[in-house]
Amino acid sequence: MSFRVAYAGFMLESVSAVPVISTKDDFIRNTTRGEAMAKAFAGTNTVAGGCLDTLDAAPDAVAVPLVQTVIGALGPASDEAIAWLTGETLSLLARAAPLDGIVLFLHGASWAPGYEDIERHVISKVRNAHPDVPISVALDYHGNVDSRTFAECDVAVAYRHSPHTDMGQTGARATEALLRILREGRKPGLAVCKPGVVIPSILSATALEPLATVIAEARALEAAGDCDISVMAGFAYADSPNTGMSVVAVDWDGQEAAATKARQLAERLQALRREISSAIPVADVSGALADLEARPGAGKPVVLLEHADRMNDSTYLLRALMDREVGRVSVPFMFDPETAEQALAAGAGAEIDLMLGGKTSPESGGPIALRAKVLWAGHKTYTVTGQMQTGATIDLGTTALIEFGHIRVSVVSNFAFAIDGDPFYIFDERPEDYDVIVLRSKTHFRAFYEPASDRIIVVDTPDLGPADVKLIPFTQLDTAQKFPWKETPVLTC
Ligand SMILES: [Zn+2]
Repeated sequence: MSFRVAYAGFMLESVSAVPVISTKDDFIRNTTRGEAMAKAFAGTNTVAGGCLDTLDAAPDAVAVPLVQTVIGALGPASDEAIAWLTGETLSLLARAAPLDGIVLFLHGASWAPGYEDIERHVISKVRNAHPDVPISVALDYHGNVDSRTFAECDVAVAYRHSPHTDMGQTGARATEALLRILREGRKPGLAVCKPGVVIPSILSATALEPLATVIAEARALEAAGDCDISVMAGFAYADSPNTGMSVVAVDWDGQEAAATKARQLAERLQALRREISSAIPVADVSGALADLEARPGAGKPVVLLEHADRMNDSTYLLRALMDREVGRVSVPFMFDPETAEQALAAGAGAEIDLMLGGKTSPESGGPIALRAKVLWAGHKTYTVTGQMQTGATIDLGTTALIEFGHIRVSVVSNFAFAIDGDPFYIFDERPEDYDVIVLRSKTHFRAFYEPASDRIIVVDTPDLGPADVKLIPFTQLDTAQKFPWKETPVLTC
């Protein structure tokens, strides 16, 4: 007999203060179902790929691919969109019944005004509809979770790496644990402990010390026991009661073993909170440019990381770089559909007057009025060659490569992060063609750009994702107890 295991996935990381809302129509447009979804994701380094490949390889399992909605790292969802997503997931699961197991991929940091914890909501609805079917949940390392999030599922595992180079492995871990429940007829312990620490995304890179040491301790606990431990960074910019770091332990030796390990590592995170929260230096715009001018890249580009930008359209660095002699500058994947359409209408070779970038919120720095030459314009899709989401298809929508002075900017209509060499390769360029590259990724760019750049200068701007998490206007998070600089943050297990 074969176990019928369904897969359903939803990926949205929300900055709750971003004024751009993902609607039900956005959700519908970014949803694939059934065999089309399986075809798009099987063999890719994604949770869906890892899950479906694991099920295909198992002699005693049949994959039932249902649905995947990928919105990305953006602003909030509308309440209506979350209601639609939940309903769609439930109706597809009902139609696929009878099922032996369910794998859910939930990012963990999605946010909508009417929901305290969207992931808990989805899990609870699925559990109510399928009370006797084991549920295994795969999450992003940046998910905001607590023990209530997982009260009604059986397994929860998160990415171990940021950059997220192990998305496929995470899907496989969630699926293997589910299959083990089905094969052995028993469930593992599942415990969550929160250290009461909130860190900005740039400090969540898993190679940074001392965070890397705590994560290594999780691997050591796994080597010594029969468990799967996820140290999760959380996502500071989604304002929820459970915003912040977590340790999630799945332990086949039972609930007490899981709780002990989750607490042990959460205590370590808490003890090291100040060091974790000051792991890399952050410059302001003028400091970053002074640094750049004092020491240009030697044979490789210098990366300026405009990390506080959450909508990929900030203009603080671009404006500052326009009248500086710093060599050739590239600004890949700026989100500006209006400019992309304008460039497309004008066509390659045309010179156009633009209001570039800075349109999504007052905090993004405002548009820059300039005249640019259109080098290329059209609809652009490509297959990821980088280490994250390898093999997945990215649709940038209407896209243009424009040039003004020493600066080239690629503008896109679908929100996308430049994290590897692809934003250059798709225009027959290379990163090393440039002296300076402006990126907006938080940690994912490091897999490619640490070796590909001369150095990385992290730049803080007055935008919606500040390095100083004290500046975030929290209303739901209990800030009295949950910051790295509190004398005694509260441990919640
Ligand atoms: Zn993440």
